[in-house]
Parts: sequence; structure tokens; C-alpha cells
Amino acid sequence: LNSMLSGLPTTIFTVMSALAVRHGAINLGQGFPDTEGPADLVEAAAAALRDGRNQYPPLTGVPELREAVARSNARFHNLTVDPASEVIVTSGATEALAASLMALVDPGDEVVVLEPLYDTYVPMIRALGAIPRPVRLTPPDWSLPRAELAAAFGPRTKAIMLNSPMNPTGKVFTPDELAIIADLLARHDAYAICDEVYEHLTFGARHIPLMTLPGMRDRCVRIGSAGKSFSLTGWKVGYVTAPAAIAACVAKAHQLLTFTTAPNLQRAVAVGLDKDTDYFATLASDMQARRDLLSNGLRAVGFDVLPCDGSYFVVADIRPTGFTGDDMAFCHAMTEHCRVTAIPVSAFYTTPDAPTHLVRFAFCKQEPVLVEAIARLRAGL
Ligand code: PMP
Ligand code: GLN
Repeated sequence: LNSMLSGLPTTIFTVMSALAVRHGAINLGQGFPDTEGPADLVEAAAAALRDGRNQYPPLTGVPELREAVARSNARFHNLTVDPASEVIVTSGATEALAASLMALVDPGDEVVVLEPLYDTYVPMIRALGAIPRPVRLTPPDWSLPRAELAAAFGPRTKAIMLNSPMNPTGKVFTPDELAIIADLLARHDAYAICDEVYEHLTFGARHIPLMTLPGMRDRCVRIGSAGKSFSLTGWKVGYVTAPAAIAACVAKAHQLLTFTTAPNLQRAVAVGLDKDTDYFATLASDMQARRDLLSNGLRAVGFDVLPCDGSYFVVADIRPTGFTGDDMAFCHAMTEHCRVTAIPVSAFYTTPDAPTHLVRFAFCKQEPVLVEAIARLRAGL
């Protein structure tokens, strides 16, 4: 067996979702909406199935979707993108992340990552024989430690993985922070894999793709996900925007990993990306109302709540509740006694001595569900 994979624990999302089911708990752990995505997208996917568009689509994605990704880059970020050579459709952002790493790194290369981080990054880097170089952001505002970031870059640095808006912190990187990263990339001739799956889920803060900064157009691989932009996480349709030379190599990786992505879903996602600007504004404002509902409720039952400018997630400090164990023990106890599930933030660290006083709650749920969760916490904590 592969030693890295055989030693890898089951993802915390699956572990906590199973625990939630076992205890009849409200699952504010794994980040998925509890409502269907837009009916017109579901209808477009069903219509494409009935139209007999069910054989292998083109390797890089159906033209309708690649063109829609290019239009979306132009509309929201003023980026000019060639749909034929600079867009690759993948089976979710998860595959896009893997394919982008495969396209960029050789064994022995170093990849800078920012902790806390999404759980696939470090195992994928290691699986490719590359070396993760973690840099920690500091709670509660998760600011970027400039000196430590600069020290993590060196002659073997090939890339940084940048997730903004960020899971699990809810952080949206500021223009100043992006400029610091851009400067390091230029000085070290390195690339950025930009995980922007929550690009349309920001609450006041503006999401700026690193790719739009001066000199960054040819250094960035920008990744989006239909799961997050259309509340259809099970569809697993992702899209990569990258300069043609990198995109061609991402396509080779995609050829090895899955080769193609379900054609009906691709056509439906193309319909989604062309939705009017109101759709995207409402997606964000609805989610912001849920963030506020959950954050206020968590504060009222005794947590400190950290700032959150984007994503599906808010992080809470458990210390004011008086609980004496760590975040993992807290999440288990809360699931069993309050029947509400969250994710321990220490699961998003790969280095020793992770903070153990923080838990992540997902607020991408219907308002009555969030209200009931708060009521259960008030009764059980
Ligand atoms: N990156 C981040 C930061 C995420 O939170 C997720 C969530 N699922 C993904 C990537 C994966 O997206 P997808 O479901 O499209 O594979
Ligand atoms: N991205 C989601 C989260 O962070 C879950 C993804 C998964 O279950 N692998 O909760």
C-alpha cells in the first residue's frame, strides 16, 4: 500500500457527518447547503440528459461552459480569457486543485501553504513528492505574518496555494496582503494556485483574484466551483482559468485523473455562470444574513465569534463556554449533548501545536435550522 495514503485518516468532514447522523444532530460541520440550487440549472441538466448529450464530452470541457467561464472572468474581474486555450473544466475544484499541482510541481519542489488549510492540499503536495512549507495565520483576524511568509520562500519554491475567501477562517485576503504575495511570487519566479471556490460568497469585503494584480496574469491558476456558486455541491463541476501553457499541462493531468466531467452538468453550469448579477448579489446577501443569524446566536449562548468576511463558515472560540477539553472533545460532546455538530479547527493544521480552542460552524443552512441549532445549544451547553 502507498504509505502516505494508508496512513491518511478519513476526512474530518465524513467523520463528523457520520457522528451527526448517529446522534440525530443538526450538521453544521460539513459545508453543504440544505436546499436545492437554482431550479433552472436542475432543469437544464435534466434537459441535456434527455437531449441525448450523454457521451464523452471534449477533454477540456464543453465549449458552452468554457465560454461562460471566460465571460464570467470578464464580467466580474475584467480578465480577458481565451476559452479555447485558457479554461479547463474539471470534476469539482478538488480535481482542479490536484490537476493544478500535478501541472506545476516536480518531486522536491516546495509549495508554500497557509494554515489553517483545506484538508486536501498537503496530502496532494506530498503525494507528488513535493514539500509543503506551512505558514500560520494568527487568529483572531488571521493576518498574514510578512516575515514568516518571506522566510518560507526560497530557491526551491515552485508555488503557493492561496484560498480566498478562505475555509475555515472566513478570511478574505486584503489588497495589501495580495500585493505582498505577488511580490514574493515575482521575486522567486513562482506560481499561485488560487482556490477561489467561495468567490461569490463575500459579505462586504471585496474578493480580488490574485490573477488581476500587475504581473500575476501568467503566474496564477484560478479555480472556481459550481458547487459553491450554485449551491449544488454534489455536482462536482470545477473550472480552472490559467495561462495557455499552464492550462495545457492542467489538461494533461485532467486526462490522467478523470478525462472528462458529466456533460449535462457542464451545460447546466454554463447557464448558471451567465445568470444576471442580481443572482450572485442575492446569493451573497442571503448567506450574509445566515452568517449574522448564526454568529449572533453563538455569541448569545457564550462563544466568542471570530470575524468572517466570506465563505460558508464562521469560527468560534470555545474558551468562554468554560469547556476544559480540546476542540475535538468539544465537537464530540456538543454533538452528543446538544445534538449540534461542528468541525474542530485543529483538523485544518498539519504542523504540531495547532490551536485547540476553535471550532468551525457552517451557516449555509435554512434559517429555521440555524435557529433550532442555537436553541439546542442554549439548552444543552
Ligand atoms: N476548496 C475549498 C476551500 C473548499 O472548501 C472546497 C469545498 N468543498 C473545495 C475546494 C472543493 O470543491 P468541490 O466540491 O468543487 O470539489
Ligand atoms: N468543503 C466542505 C467543507 O469544508 C466539505 C468538503 C468535503 O466533505 N470533502 O466542509
